[in-house]
Amino acid sequence: MAGLNTQVAPAIVILGQGSLTTARCLQQIYAQATIYGLQGRVQGADQDYSTFGDLLRSLYQRGTPIIALCAAGIVIRSLASLLGEKGSEPPVLAVAEDGSAVVPLLGGLSGVNQMARDIAAALGVAAAITTSGELRFGTCLLNPPQGYALADLEQGKRFVSDLLAGEPVRIEGQAPWLAQAQLPASDAAQRTIHVGHLARPASRDELLIHPRSVVVGLASGDLQTIRDALQQAGIAQASLACVLADERAMTDTRLHAAAQALGVELRFAARPDDVAGMVGAALPEARLQCQGEVVIAVAPAPVEVTQIGRRRGRLAVIGLGPGAAELMVPAVKAELARAEDVLGYETYVRMAGPFRDDQVLHCTDNREEMQRARHAFELAARGRSVVVVSSGDPGVFAMAAAVLEALHESTNPDWHAVDLEILPGVSASLATAAQAGAPLGHDFCVMSLSDNLKPWSIIEKRLDLAAQADLVLAFYNPISKARPHQLGTALDVVRRHRGADTPVVLGRDIGRPGQTLRVVSLAQLVPEMVDMRTMVLVGSSTTCTFERPDGGQWVYTPRWYGAKP
Ligand code: SAH
Repeated sequence: MAGLNTQVAPAIVILGQGSLTTARCLQQIYAQATIYGLQGRVQGADQDYSTFGDLLRSLYQRGTPIIALCAAGIVIRSLASLLGEKGSEPPVLAVAEDGSAVVPLLGGLSGVNQMARDIAAALGVAAAITTSGELRFGTCLLNPPQGYALADLEQGKRFVSDLLAGEPVRIEGQAPWLAQAQLPASDAAQRTIHVGHLARPASRDELLIHPRSVVVGLASGDLQTIRDALQQAGIAQASLACVLADERAMTDTRLHAAAQALGVELRFAARPDDVAGMVGAALPEARLQCQGEVVIAVAPAPVEVTQIGRRRGRLAVIGLGPGAAELMVPAVKAELARAEDVLGYETYVRMAGPFRDDQVLHCTDNREEMQRARHAFELAARGRSVVVVSSGDPGVFAMAAAVLEALHESTNPDWHAVDLEILPGVSASLATAAQAGAPLGHDFCVMSLSDNLKPWSIIEKRLDLAAQADLVLAFYNPISKARPHQLGTALDVVRRHRGADTPVVLGRDIGRPGQTLRVVSLAQLVPEMVDMRTMVLVGSSTTCTFERPDGGQWVYTPRWYGAKP
C-alpha cells in the first residue's frame, strides 16, 4: 500500500489565491503534483474545479493522495460519507493556508505521517502526528519500511493494541528499522515480532513480517510455474522481491503478466549456461534451491531490486494535447511521472514539465526527428524509461511515425525488445473544433500543408480532390516564414469547389496562454490571418453557423448529408 500510494502524484487543493504560494512550495517536494484551484477564486492553478466536496471525494476514490490547504474540519466533512473502511485509503492531509501547520488526517497505513514530516520539513514547521502507536514507539509497526511486508493487517492491529496496553515484546529475525524504536522489549516476552520468509499463518501473539529477500529465477514460465515453486519451497509470496528471467525472454508476455499479478518487478540477465548460474551471479550472497526448472534464491536481507540484472527498457511516445494541463490524458501524466529520460523539441519538453532533478531532459531541434527517435531507442535499450514528447497527438504529423520508422529500419534485437507504447493526445484539430462547436461533425480530411517532406504537387492534388469530395478540411502547418505563398495557392484550389460564404475556423494557440478563435468566411480569409501556430478548419457545403450569446458564433457540420432525414 505505502509503495503504491507514494507513486501516485498527490493533488494539492486550494480554495483561495493566498494559498498558491504555499501550494507551489509543496510542488517542490512533489514535482508531478497537480494544484487544483477553485474556479473564480484562484488564478494560475494547474487545474480548476467548481465544487470542493465533489473534487475531494473523486480524488479519494481514485486513491490520489490529497493535500488540502484549508481547515481540517472542511476536509473531514467532505470525505465523511466515504470513511467506512480503514486500510484502503490514500494519505489525506490538511495544511494551513499560510503553511504554518501540517495535520495528517487519513492514510496512516499508506504513509501519511511520513508525508506530513516531509511537508513539515519543507515548510519549517512541526507535523501534528497523533497516531498513538507511532508516538509511543516512534514508528508505525503496521507500516514496515520498503523491503518488508506485513503478513496480516487485522491481526497486526490487535497486536499493536496489546503493546499499547503494556505487553512486552521480543524480536525474532532481523528488523534493523526497529533498532531505534522505543519498544517495550523483554527477552521473556510472550509477544514477538517475527521477521522471516517462510509461509505460515501468524500465530495469535506475533506480528509476522516478511522480508522481500527472495528472487525466483527462470528461463521461461508463467504465474503458475512461479507460484508452484514458491509453494513447494514453503516460501511466503510476500517475500518475493522480483522475478529474474533469461534476457532472451524479454518480450514473453506470460512472464510480464505473471510478474504483474505477483506485484513484483521482472528483471533480466544473460544466461550463459543454466538458470542457477544466472541467479547465482546476480545474488552471490543468497542460498539457492532448485524447484524443477526454477531456481529460488533466498538472500540474508531484503533484496535491492535495482541491483538484480536489468529491467526491460520502455519507450513511450506521448501526446501532450494542445497545451492546457486539463486536456492531457491521465495515462500521459503517469508516463511523465515515471520517465527517466525525456526527449523532444524544447518548447514541448518545457510544456510537459515541471520535472524532478533526477529526470534527464534531451532537447533537440524540431527537424531532427529520425535522430531523436534513434537516440530514444538507444536509451530505452539500456533499460531506461524514456518518453518522446509531441504536442497534440503523437500520431498526427509528429513523432510516433518517426519512432516506428526507426524501429522498422533497425535490426538491433535490443531495440525490438523495448516495451514500446504510443499514448494518444488531443490533437489541435479536435481541440480547435471543440471550441468552435462541431465543425468536424461529419466526414473530414486532415492535411499538413507543409511541403518539407512531400512534393507540393501532391498537396495540390489532394486538396483538389478533398475539396471536390465536399469534405471538411483541417489544415495543419498551414504556413511558415519559409513558405509564405503556398497557403494562398491552396485556398485558390479550395475556392474552385467551395462557396464564398463557407465558414472557416481559425484557432491560434488553442489551449495555451493567449489563445484566439475566429470564424470568417472563405471569401474573407487571407493568408495574413494565419501563422504556423494556427489550425485552419474549412467547412463543407453543409457547415453552418449561428450566433452565441457572447457575440461569437457556433460552427457545426450536421450529422446528415443530402436531404435532412
Ligand atoms: N501533433 C500535433 C500537430 C503537429 S503539426 C497535433 O496533433 O496537434 C503542427 C501544427 O499543428 C501547427 O502548425 C498548427 O497548425 C497546429 N497546432 C498545433 N498546436 C496547436 C494549437 N495549440 N493551436 C492551434 N494550432 C495548433
